Amino acid sequence: YPYGQYGNKRYQHTESKTSGKMAAWQIHKYGGNEQLSFSNTCRVPPISNPDDILIKIHAASVNPIDVGMRGGYGSNVINTLRGIFSQLQVASEFPLILGRDFSGVVIQSGRGVHRFKPGDQVWGALGVEKPGSHSQYTIASQREISKKPSNISHQQAASLPYVAATTWSAICTFGNFTQQKASQSRVLVNGGSGGIGTFAIQLLKAWGAEVVTTCATDAVAMVTDLGADEVIDYKTVGVESSLKETGRFDFILDTVGNMESYQSSLLTRGGMFVTLVTPVLTNIDKDGLLGGLAKTAFSILPKLTSSLPKQTNYRWAFFIPDGKALGTVKDLVEAEMIIPQIECVYQFRDLPLAYEKVGEKHGRGKTVLDII
Ligand code: NDP
Repeated sequence: YPYGQYGNKRYQHTESKTSGKMAAWQIHKYGGNEQLSFSNTCRVPPISNPDDILIKIHAASVNPIDVGMRGGYGSNVINTLRGIFSQLQVASEFPLILGRDFSGVVIQSGRGVHRFKPGDQVWGALGVEKPGSHSQYTIASQREISKKPSNISHQQAASLPYVAATTWSAICTFGNFTQQKASQSRVLVNGGSGGIGTFAIQLLKAWGAEVVTTCATDAVAMVTDLGADEVIDYKTVGVESSLKETGRFDFILDTVGNMESYQSSLLTRGGMFVTLVTPVLTNIDKDGLLGGLAKTAFSILPKLTSSLPKQTNYRWAFFIPDGKALGTVKDLVEAEMIIPQIECVYQFRDLPLAYEKVGEKHGRGKTVLDII
């Protein structure tokens, strides 16, 4: 595993709960990797709500959203959410700890928490408005976590919660798709080799769907091993014509954002297209809340109306924290129907290298940080 330039004493962290201090990577303003700064003296976050849980993080993953948020992606919307959810009036979001998911151990819980107790091994994915998981401790709500699968390590577990909650949200919440429907369906996962794709293929195969996926040549073997029934190598064949030849789909999960112009011609009548690549946050970043929403409405309207005559459905989907879904995924992991797909593990001190890796956007599975 990569190991390197950040591995000097400045970045060593030690157990420091008694002092109320912890190690974390923070940013003080938006920008590139040069904005990531390591501190050994961040405050261990306090429990301030009855359903808060203080968790000691053993491992976390790095997702494209972390790299995006480092550069200010979504800051208008996310600051609005911070204002809505925070009881404290904070002048600024900085210093900001990034990172959305983790695997760790419960240290302490609020008085409204009954399902988790100190010592429990848990995993979870945090709402985007919250301080993140690229730190030794975090506060999660009991609605964001579940018990961790018992058959895998914290490093393996940390690779799943954010992609699992996002995939669940896209397929089940926005896509209105269920295990029962999946077992009689033909599904396309557009972009099978990244964090979301490798998880989605396994979930849909566990549910009995016929799964077709797209990926680059070097990932064909990996997605085939994950159970994909048919793989379209987008480097060597025309994707649109190849997909049309294979037959229609009942459900399409899009993680790439490049099939807007022909998606409805791939669907069966009543079929559902759900994409995770949406312009919403970028529009609001550029044009403010009202201007961005107006621009967004103009861009989605033609897609919705063009789907109507073909009687297909078109949806955008977003990550939603979901501890209950993670509980179901835990069972699938313990049954070895879902296996974590980890490409790289970085030491905590090497976090900027992990951001560089994920920022290259050619993930084969997940990038994980070993925090303990
Ligand atoms: P990763 O970086 O892990 O994976 C992206 C994958 O897409 C890579 O494996 C890449 O492989 C592949 N890819 C790129 N171009 C194509 C193509 N033309 N055809 C097929 N595959 C392609 O990202 P994630 O899986 O974590 O996320 C996927 C997308 O979903 C990202 O854009 C992310 O921002 C978005 N997302 C949106 C969320 C939301 O709330 N709306 C939440 C989470 C993710 P290669 O280029 O090497 O072939």
